[in-house]
Amino acid sequence: MAADSANVDIAIVGGGIHGAGIAQRAAAAGHRVLLLEKSQAAAGTSSRSSKLIHGGLRYLETGQLRLVRESLHERSALLRLAPELVRLQRFYIPVYAETRRRPWVLGTGLSLYAVLAGFARGAGFGLVARREWDSLDGLATHGLQQVFHYHDAQTDDAALTRAVLASAQRLGARLAMPATFAGAEMQDSAVSVRYAAQGALHECRARVLVNAAGPWAASVARAVSPALEVPRIELVQGTHLLLPGPPSRGIYYVESPRDGRAIFVMPWHGQLMIGTTEVRYRGDPDAVAPTTGERHYLLGILRRYFPAAADAPGTTMRAFAGLRVLPGGPGHAFHRSRETQLVADRATAPRVISIYGGKLTTFRATAAQVLRLAAPSLPARHAIADVDTLPLTPA
Ligand SMILES: Cc1cc2nc3c(=O)[nH]c(=O)nc-3n(C[C@H](O)[C@H](O)[C@H](O)COP(=O)(O)OP(=O)(O)OC[C@H]3O[C@@H](n4cnc5c(N)ncnc54)[C@H](O)[C@@H]3O)c2cc1C
Repeated sequence: MAADSANVDIAIVGGGIHGAGIAQRAAAAGHRVLLLEKSQAAAGTSSRSSKLIHGGLRYLETGQLRLVRESLHERSALLRLAPELVRLQRFYIPVYAETRRRPWVLGTGLSLYAVLAGFARGAGFGLVARREWDSLDGLATHGLQQVFHYHDAQTDDAALTRAVLASAQRLGARLAMPATFAGAEMQDSAVSVRYAAQGALHECRARVLVNAAGPWAASVARAVSPALEVPRIELVQGTHLLLPGPPSRGIYYVESPRDGRAIFVMPWHGQLMIGTTEVRYRGDPDAVAPTTGERHYLLGILRRYFPAAADAPGTTMRAFAGLRVLPGGPGHAFHRSRETQLVADRATAPRVISIYGGKLTTFRATAAQVLRLAAPSLPARHAIADVDTLPLTPA
Protein backbone atom coordinates (compact mmCIF):
# COMPACT_ATOMS: atom_id res chain seq x y z
CA MET A 1 0.00 0.00 0.00
CA ALA A 2 1.32 3.45 -0.95
CA ALA A 3 1.40 5.89 1.96
CA ASP A 4 0.12 9.26 0.83
CA SER A 5 2.88 11.81 1.21
CA ALA A 6 0.69 14.61 2.51
CA ASN A 7 -1.70 14.17 5.39
CA VAL A 8 -4.79 16.31 5.01
CA ASP A 9 -7.19 18.26 7.18
CA ILE A 10 -10.27 17.00 5.35
CA ALA A 11 -10.76 13.97 3.10
CA ILE A 12 -14.03 13.99 1.17
CA VAL A 13 -15.70 11.02 -0.53
CA GLY A 14 -17.82 12.10 -3.52
CA GLY A 15 -17.38 14.50 -6.42
CA GLY A 16 -21.06 15.52 -6.59
CA ILE A 17 -22.31 18.99 -5.66
CA HIS A 18 -21.93 18.39 -1.90
CA GLY A 19 -18.36 17.09 -2.08
CA ALA A 20 -17.50 19.97 -4.44
CA GLY A 21 -19.06 22.61 -2.18
CA ILE A 22 -17.28 21.30 0.91
CA ALA A 23 -13.93 21.05 -0.91
CA GLN A 24 -14.27 24.65 -2.13
CA ARG A 25 -15.27 26.09 1.26
CA ALA A 26 -12.63 24.10 3.16
CA ALA A 27 -9.86 25.07 0.72
CA ALA A 28 -10.96 28.73 0.90
CA ALA A 29 -10.63 28.52 4.68
CA GLY A 30 -7.00 27.46 4.13
CA HIS A 31 -7.43 23.74 4.84
CA ARG A 32 -5.58 20.92 3.14
CA VAL A 33 -8.23 19.00 1.22
CA LEU A 34 -8.32 15.69 -0.65
CA LEU A 35 -11.46 14.75 -2.60
CA LEU A 36 -12.01 11.19 -3.80
CA GLU A 37 -14.41 10.51 -6.66
CA LYS A 38 -14.73 6.96 -8.00
CA SER A 39 -15.86 8.02 -11.46
CA GLN A 40 -15.91 11.63 -12.71
CA ALA A 41 -17.30 14.98 -11.56
CA ALA A 42 -21.09 14.89 -11.06
CA ALA A 43 -21.31 11.24 -12.14
CA GLY A 44 -24.12 10.52 -9.64
CA THR A 45 -27.25 12.45 -8.66
CA SER A 46 -25.69 15.82 -9.42
CA SER A 47 -26.12 15.28 -13.17
CA ARG A 48 -29.58 13.69 -12.94
CA SER A 49 -31.64 16.26 -11.06
CA SER A 50 -34.44 18.52 -12.33
CA LYS A 51 -31.76 21.22 -12.70
CA LEU A 52 -33.67 23.80 -10.67
CA ILE A 53 -32.19 26.27 -8.23
CA HIS A 54 -35.42 26.97 -6.45
CA GLY A 55 -37.11 27.61 -3.16
CA GLY A 56 -39.37 24.63 -3.78
CA LEU A 57 -42.84 26.15 -4.05
CA ARG A 58 -44.48 22.80 -3.35
CA TYR A 59 -42.63 22.37 -0.03
CA LEU A 60 -44.95 25.07 1.32
CA GLU A 61 -47.70 22.42 1.15
CA THR A 62 -45.84 20.32 3.72
CA GLY A 63 -44.97 23.31 5.90
CA GLN A 64 -41.21 23.19 5.21
CA LEU A 65 -40.90 26.98 5.58
CA ARG A 66 -37.34 26.95 6.92
CA LEU A 67 -36.16 24.92 3.93
CA VAL A 68 -37.97 27.21 1.47
CA ARG A 69 -36.57 30.38 3.05
CA GLU A 70 -33.02 28.98 3.08
CA SER A 71 -33.35 27.75 -0.52
CA LEU A 72 -34.61 31.14 -1.74
CA HIS A 73 -31.69 32.81 0.01
CA GLU A 74 -29.31 30.37 -1.71
CA ARG A 75 -31.02 31.02 -5.05
CA SER A 76 -30.20 34.74 -4.67
CA ALA A 77 -26.59 33.94 -3.78
CA LEU A 78 -26.13 31.65 -6.80
CA LEU A 79 -27.76 34.13 -9.21
CA ARG A 80 -25.19 36.64 -7.98
CA LEU A 81 -22.11 34.34 -7.90
CA ALA A 82 -22.80 32.20 -10.98
CA PRO A 83 -24.76 34.30 -13.51
CA GLU A 84 -23.50 32.21 -16.45
CA LEU A 85 -24.63 28.98 -14.78
CA VAL A 86 -27.79 29.90 -12.87
CA ARG A 87 -30.51 31.92 -14.60
CA LEU A 88 -33.96 33.14 -13.68
CA GLN A 89 -36.68 31.48 -15.76
CA ARG A 90 -40.35 32.27 -16.09
CA PHE A 91 -42.55 29.50 -14.67
CA TYR A 92 -46.20 28.90 -15.60
CA ILE A 93 -48.81 27.06 -13.51
CA PRO A 94 -51.98 26.27 -15.49
CA VAL A 95 -55.19 25.71 -13.53
CA TYR A 96 -57.92 23.58 -15.13
CA ALA A 97 -61.40 22.70 -13.91
CA GLU A 98 -60.04 19.43 -12.43
CA THR A 99 -56.77 20.86 -10.96
CA ARG A 100 -56.59 20.00 -7.24
CA ARG A 101 -54.56 23.08 -6.23
CA ARG A 102 -57.18 25.78 -6.64
CA PRO A 103 -56.31 29.37 -7.65
CA TRP A 104 -56.66 30.71 -4.09
CA VAL A 105 -54.21 28.04 -2.83
CA LEU A 106 -51.71 28.91 -5.58
CA GLY A 107 -52.16 32.66 -5.03
CA THR A 108 -51.56 32.24 -1.28
CA GLY A 109 -48.54 29.99 -1.91
CA LEU A 110 -46.99 32.40 -4.41
CA SER A 111 -47.54 35.35 -2.04
CA LEU A 112 -45.83 33.48 0.78
CA TYR A 113 -43.04 32.47 -1.64
CA ALA A 114 -42.47 36.16 -2.48
CA VAL A 115 -42.39 37.07 1.23
CA LEU A 116 -39.91 34.27 2.02
CA ALA A 117 -37.74 35.46 -0.89
CA GLY A 118 -37.64 38.85 0.83
CA PHE A 119 -39.20 40.38 -2.32
CA ALA A 120 -35.85 39.75 -4.04
CA ARG A 121 -35.35 40.02 -7.81
CA GLY A 122 -37.95 37.86 -9.56
CA ALA A 123 -40.14 37.46 -6.49
CA GLY A 124 -43.30 38.82 -8.17
CA PHE A 125 -46.06 36.74 -9.73
CA GLY A 126 -49.23 37.30 -11.74
CA LEU A 127 -51.75 35.86 -14.21
CA VAL A 128 -51.24 35.37 -17.95
CA ALA A 129 -53.94 37.22 -19.93
CA ARG A 130 -56.40 34.87 -21.65
CA ARG A 131 -55.55 36.33 -25.09
CA GLU A 132 -51.95 35.07 -24.63
CA TRP A 133 -52.84 31.46 -23.81
CA ASP A 134 -52.41 30.36 -27.44
CA SER A 135 -48.76 31.45 -27.34
CA LEU A 136 -47.92 29.07 -24.46
CA ASP A 137 -46.03 26.36 -26.37
CA GLY A 138 -49.15 24.37 -27.32
CA LEU A 139 -50.48 24.12 -23.75
CA ALA A 140 -53.94 22.50 -23.84
CA THR A 141 -56.58 25.19 -23.35
CA HIS A 142 -59.68 22.99 -23.01
CA GLY A 143 -61.01 23.51 -19.48
CA LEU A 144 -58.20 25.98 -18.72
CA GLN A 145 -59.32 28.53 -16.12
CA GLN A 146 -56.20 30.49 -15.20
CA VAL A 147 -52.43 30.50 -15.78
CA PHE A 148 -50.17 31.86 -13.03
CA HIS A 149 -46.65 33.04 -13.79
CA TYR A 150 -43.71 33.57 -11.43
CA HIS A 151 -39.91 33.19 -11.51
CA ASP A 152 -37.44 30.61 -10.26
CA ALA A 153 -33.97 29.61 -11.47
CA GLN A 154 -32.58 26.86 -13.71
CA THR A 155 -29.02 25.57 -13.99
CA ASP A 156 -26.93 22.86 -15.60
CA ASP A 157 -26.34 20.70 -12.52
CA ALA A 158 -23.22 18.92 -13.86
CA ALA A 159 -21.71 22.18 -15.15
CA LEU A 160 -22.36 23.86 -11.79
CA THR A 161 -20.66 20.96 -9.98
CA ARG A 162 -17.67 21.13 -12.33
CA ALA A 163 -17.42 24.91 -11.75
CA VAL A 164 -17.37 24.45 -7.96
CA LEU A 165 -14.77 21.65 -8.23
CA ALA A 166 -12.59 23.83 -10.48
CA SER A 167 -12.85 26.65 -7.93
CA ALA A 168 -11.83 24.23 -5.15
CA GLN A 169 -8.87 23.09 -7.20
CA ARG A 170 -7.75 26.68 -7.85
CA LEU A 171 -7.85 27.18 -4.08
CA GLY A 172 -5.48 24.23 -3.61
CA ALA A 173 -7.81 21.25 -3.05
CA ARG A 174 -6.46 17.98 -4.45
CA LEU A 175 -9.05 16.17 -6.58
CA ALA A 176 -8.41 12.45 -7.06
CA MET A 177 -10.63 11.27 -9.94
CA PRO A 178 -11.05 8.41 -10.44
CA ALA A 179 -10.23 7.25 -6.91
CA THR A 180 -12.43 4.85 -4.99
CA PHE A 181 -12.79 5.05 -1.23
CA ALA A 182 -12.10 1.56 0.16
CA GLY A 183 -12.45 2.00 3.93
CA ALA A 184 -11.33 3.97 6.98
CA GLU A 185 -10.33 3.44 10.59
CA MET A 186 -11.07 6.10 13.16
CA GLN A 187 -8.29 6.80 15.63
CA ASP A 188 -8.34 9.16 18.64
CA SER A 189 -8.18 12.40 16.71
CA ALA A 190 -7.71 11.37 13.07
CA VAL A 191 -8.96 8.94 10.45
CA SER A 192 -6.87 6.65 8.38
CA VAL A 193 -8.42 6.55 4.89
CA ARG A 194 -7.79 3.87 2.24
CA TYR A 195 -8.55 4.37 -1.43
CA ALA A 196 -7.77 2.79 -4.76
CA ALA A 197 -6.40 4.92 -7.60
CA GLN A 198 -4.27 4.25 -10.67
CA GLY A 199 -4.14 0.54 -9.94
CA ALA A 200 -2.74 0.91 -6.41
CA LEU A 201 -4.12 1.09 -2.89
CA HIS A 202 -3.27 4.34 -1.09
CA GLU A 203 -3.57 5.45 2.51
CA CYS A 204 -3.78 8.93 3.96
CA ARG A 205 -4.52 10.43 7.34
CA ALA A 206 -7.23 13.05 7.68
CA ARG A 207 -8.41 15.00 10.72
CA VAL A 208 -11.96 14.69 9.39
CA LEU A 209 -13.52 12.40 6.80
CA VAL A 210 -16.63 13.78 5.06
CA ASN A 211 -18.91 11.21 3.49
CA ALA A 212 -20.61 13.05 0.60
CA ALA A 213 -21.35 9.93 -1.43
CA GLY A 214 -25.03 10.71 -2.07
CA PRO A 215 -26.98 7.46 -2.64
CA TRP A 216 -23.80 5.51 -1.82
CA ALA A 217 -23.42 7.26 1.59
CA ALA A 218 -24.71 4.30 3.60
CA SER A 219 -22.24 1.88 1.97
CA VAL A 220 -19.37 4.33 2.52
CA ALA A 221 -20.41 4.69 6.20
CA ARG A 222 -20.45 0.89 6.58
CA ALA A 223 -16.82 0.72 5.41
CA VAL A 224 -15.68 2.80 8.42
CA SER A 225 -14.58 1.16 11.65
CA PRO A 226 -15.47 1.22 14.49
CA ALA A 227 -19.01 0.99 13.08
CA LEU A 228 -20.92 4.23 12.48
CA GLU A 229 -24.59 4.92 13.04
CA VAL A 230 -26.47 4.86 9.72
CA PRO A 231 -29.88 6.58 9.93
CA ARG A 232 -33.02 5.02 8.47
CA ILE A 233 -33.09 6.24 4.88
CA GLU A 234 -34.84 5.34 1.63
CA LEU A 235 -33.58 5.68 -1.92
CA VAL A 236 -36.29 7.10 -4.15
CA GLN A 237 -35.78 7.02 -7.90
CA GLY A 238 -36.69 10.02 -10.08
CA THR A 239 -36.83 9.83 -13.88
CA HIS A 240 -36.88 12.54 -16.56
CA LEU A 241 -37.70 12.12 -20.25
CA LEU A 242 -36.13 14.15 -23.07
CA LEU A 243 -38.09 14.77 -26.27
CA PRO A 244 -37.81 17.11 -29.26
CA GLY A 245 -39.56 20.50 -29.20
CA PRO A 246 -38.44 22.51 -26.18
CA PRO A 247 -40.95 24.96 -24.71
CA SER A 248 -39.78 28.45 -25.68
CA ARG A 249 -41.64 30.52 -23.10
CA GLY A 250 -40.22 28.96 -19.92
CA ILE A 251 -40.98 26.14 -17.50
CA TYR A 252 -44.45 24.70 -16.91
CA TYR A 253 -45.43 23.35 -13.51
CA VAL A 254 -48.30 20.94 -14.11
CA GLU A 255 -50.23 18.52 -11.92
CA SER A 256 -50.33 14.79 -12.56
CA PRO A 257 -54.02 13.96 -13.14
CA ARG A 258 -53.36 10.50 -11.69
CA ASP A 259 -51.95 11.36 -8.25
CA GLY A 260 -51.77 15.17 -8.01
CA ARG A 261 -47.94 15.26 -7.98
CA ALA A 262 -46.31 18.43 -9.33
CA ILE A 263 -44.37 17.81 -12.57
CA PHE A 264 -42.05 20.13 -14.52
CA VAL A 265 -42.00 20.51 -18.31
CA MET A 266 -38.97 22.55 -19.26
CA PRO A 267 -36.49 23.44 -21.99
CA TRP A 268 -33.17 21.61 -21.63
CA HIS A 269 -30.30 21.95 -24.11
CA GLY A 270 -32.63 22.31 -27.11
CA GLN A 271 -35.02 19.58 -25.96
CA LEU A 272 -38.16 19.26 -23.89
CA MET A 273 -37.53 17.68 -20.49
CA ILE A 274 -40.34 16.33 -18.31
CA GLY A 275 -39.98 14.95 -14.80
CA THR A 276 -39.96 13.63 -12.27
CA THR A 277 -41.25 10.42 -10.74
CA GLU A 278 -40.91 8.95 -7.24
CA VAL A 279 -40.37 5.21 -7.07
CA ARG A 280 -38.86 3.38 -4.09
CA TYR A 281 -35.48 1.88 -5.10
CA ARG A 282 -33.84 -1.07 -3.33
CA GLY A 283 -31.05 -2.04 -5.74
CA ASP A 284 -27.45 -1.04 -6.30
CA PRO A 285 -27.25 2.78 -6.83
CA ASP A 286 -24.92 2.16 -9.78
CA ALA A 287 -27.68 0.28 -11.60
CA VAL A 288 -30.53 2.82 -11.38
CA ALA A 289 -32.34 3.21 -14.73
CA PRO A 290 -35.70 4.55 -15.98
CA THR A 291 -38.50 1.96 -15.96
CA THR A 292 -41.23 1.42 -18.57
CA GLY A 293 -43.85 2.40 -15.96
CA GLU A 294 -42.15 5.75 -15.37
CA ARG A 295 -41.96 6.47 -19.11
CA HIS A 296 -45.70 5.77 -19.51
CA TYR A 297 -46.56 7.88 -16.47
CA LEU A 298 -44.61 10.92 -17.72
CA LEU A 299 -45.74 10.57 -21.34
CA GLY A 300 -49.36 10.37 -20.14
CA ILE A 301 -48.93 13.69 -18.30
CA LEU A 302 -47.26 15.31 -21.33
CA ARG A 303 -50.09 14.09 -23.57
CA ARG A 304 -52.66 15.67 -21.22
CA TYR A 305 -51.02 19.11 -21.22
CA PHE A 306 -48.91 19.27 -24.43
CA PRO A 307 -50.56 16.74 -26.79
CA ALA A 308 -48.62 17.84 -29.88
CA ALA A 309 -45.25 17.40 -28.13
CA ALA A 310 -46.15 13.96 -26.77
CA ASP A 311 -47.35 12.63 -30.12
CA ALA A 312 -44.88 14.32 -32.47
CA PRO A 313 -44.11 11.86 -35.31
CA GLY A 314 -40.71 10.20 -35.16
CA THR A 315 -40.30 11.15 -31.52
CA THR A 316 -37.40 9.26 -30.03
CA MET A 317 -37.18 9.48 -26.32
CA ARG A 318 -34.14 9.57 -24.08
CA ALA A 319 -34.50 9.20 -20.33
CA PHE A 320 -32.31 9.32 -17.23
CA ALA A 321 -32.86 8.43 -13.59
CA GLY A 322 -31.32 9.61 -10.32
CA LEU A 323 -31.75 8.70 -6.66
CA ARG A 324 -32.98 10.91 -3.83
CA VAL A 325 -31.88 10.02 -0.30
CA LEU A 326 -34.92 10.60 1.91
CA PRO A 327 -35.55 9.86 5.58
CA GLY A 328 -37.28 6.49 5.91
CA GLY A 329 -40.83 6.41 7.24
CA PRO A 330 -44.48 5.85 6.43
CA GLY A 331 -46.43 7.69 3.73
CA HIS A 332 -45.65 8.72 0.17
CA ALA A 333 -42.14 9.98 -0.64
CA PHE A 334 -43.68 13.13 -2.19
CA HIS A 335 -44.64 14.36 1.30
CA ARG A 336 -41.37 13.34 3.02
CA SER A 337 -38.97 16.03 4.38
CA ARG A 338 -36.26 17.27 1.97
CA GLU A 339 -34.07 18.57 4.83
CA THR A 340 -30.43 17.45 4.78
CA GLN A 341 -29.35 15.11 7.60
CA LEU A 342 -25.78 15.45 8.89
CA VAL A 343 -24.59 12.55 11.05
CA ALA A 344 -21.33 12.82 13.02
CA ASP A 345 -19.58 9.92 14.77
CA ARG A 346 -19.55 11.89 18.04
CA ALA A 347 -20.97 15.16 19.38
CA THR A 348 -17.66 16.87 20.08
CA ALA A 349 -14.64 16.90 17.78
CA PRO A 350 -16.16 14.59 15.14
CA ARG A 351 -13.92 12.46 12.95
CA VAL A 352 -16.48 11.37 10.35
CA ILE A 353 -19.42 13.44 9.10
CA SER A 354 -21.94 11.87 6.71
CA ILE A 355 -24.44 13.76 4.56
CA TYR A 356 -27.78 12.12 3.83
CA GLY A 357 -30.14 13.82 1.37
CA GLY A 358 -30.14 17.52 0.56
CA LYS A 359 -30.68 19.75 -2.43
CA LEU A 360 -28.53 21.02 -5.25
CA THR A 361 -29.88 24.49 -4.41
CA THR A 362 -28.64 24.46 -0.80
CA PHE A 363 -25.17 22.97 -1.36
CA ARG A 364 -23.41 26.12 -0.10
CA ALA A 365 -25.44 26.18 3.11
CA THR A 366 -24.82 22.46 3.66
CA ALA A 367 -21.07 22.92 3.11
CA ALA A 368 -21.05 25.76 5.67
CA GLN A 369 -22.88 23.54 8.19
CA VAL A 370 -20.45 20.65 7.65
CA LEU A 371 -17.47 22.93 8.23
CA ARG A 372 -19.01 24.41 11.40
CA LEU A 373 -19.49 20.86 12.69
CA ALA A 374 -15.93 19.86 11.73
CA ALA A 375 -14.30 23.03 13.11
CA PRO A 376 -13.36 21.66 16.58
CA SER A 377 -11.41 18.83 14.91
CA LEU A 378 -9.54 21.01 12.42
CA PRO A 379 -6.24 22.86 12.87
CA ALA A 380 -6.28 26.67 12.78
CA ARG A 381 -5.51 27.95 9.27
CA HIS A 382 -5.52 31.32 7.53
CA ALA A 383 -8.39 31.81 5.09
CA ILE A 384 -7.27 32.50 1.52
CA ALA A 385 -10.65 33.43 -0.03
CA ASP A 386 -14.28 34.10 0.78
CA VAL A 387 -16.69 31.79 -1.05
CA ASP A 388 -19.49 34.34 -0.59
CA THR A 389 -17.76 36.67 -3.05
CA LEU A 390 -15.91 34.17 -5.24
CA PRO A 391 -17.48 34.00 -8.75
CA LEU A 392 -18.31 30.57 -10.20
CA THR A 393 -17.65 30.32 -13.93
CA PRO A 394 -18.11 27.40 -16.36
CA ALA A 395 -15.08 25.08 -16.12
C1 LIG B 1 -34.75 13.10 -9.65
C2 LIG B 1 -34.10 14.18 -8.81
C3 LIG B 1 -34.39 15.50 -9.05
C4 LIG B 1 -33.80 16.50 -8.28
N1 LIG B 1 -34.04 17.79 -8.58
C5 LIG B 1 -33.47 18.77 -7.87
C6 LIG B 1 -33.65 20.12 -8.23
O1 LIG B 1 -34.28 20.43 -9.24
N2 LIG B 1 -33.09 21.07 -7.45
C7 LIG B 1 -32.38 20.75 -6.34
O2 LIG B 1 -31.95 21.68 -5.66
N3 LIG B 1 -32.14 19.46 -5.99
C8 LIG B 1 -32.65 18.47 -6.74
N4 LIG B 1 -32.41 17.17 -6.42
C9 LIG B 1 -31.50 16.86 -5.31
C10 LIG B 1 -30.03 16.99 -5.75
O3 LIG B 1 -29.87 16.54 -7.07
C11 LIG B 1 -29.15 16.17 -4.83
O4 LIG B 1 -29.39 16.54 -3.49
C12 LIG B 1 -27.67 16.37 -5.08
O5 LIG B 1 -27.35 16.26 -6.45
C13 LIG B 1 -26.90 15.35 -4.27
O6 LIG B 1 -25.53 15.58 -4.46
P1 LIG B 1 -24.46 14.70 -3.68
O7 LIG B 1 -23.15 15.35 -3.92
O8 LIG B 1 -24.90 14.49 -2.27
O9 LIG B 1 -24.54 13.25 -4.35
P2 LIG B 1 -24.06 12.74 -5.79
O10 LIG B 1 -24.21 13.78 -6.82
O11 LIG B 1 -24.76 11.45 -6.03
O12 LIG B 1 -22.51 12.50 -5.59
C14 LIG B 1 -22.00 11.40 -4.88
C15 LIG B 1 -20.71 10.99 -5.58
O13 LIG B 1 -20.04 10.03 -4.75
C16 LIG B 1 -19.32 9.18 -5.62
N5 LIG B 1 -18.99 7.96 -4.87
C17 LIG B 1 -19.85 7.02 -4.41
N6 LIG B 1 -19.18 6.05 -3.76
C18 LIG B 1 -17.85 6.38 -3.82
C19 LIG B 1 -16.64 5.75 -3.36
N7 LIG B 1 -16.65 4.59 -2.69
N8 LIG B 1 -15.47 6.38 -3.62
C20 LIG B 1 -15.41 7.57 -4.28
N9 LIG B 1 -16.54 8.18 -4.75
C21 LIG B 1 -17.74 7.59 -4.53
C22 LIG B 1 -20.29 8.95 -6.79
O14 LIG B 1 -19.61 8.52 -7.96
C23 LIG B 1 -20.94 10.33 -6.93
O15 LIG B 1 -20.32 11.11 -7.95
C24 LIG B 1 -32.94 16.15 -7.19
C25 LIG B 1 -32.65 14.80 -6.96
C26 LIG B 1 -33.21 13.82 -7.77
C27 LIG B 1 -32.85 12.39 -7.54
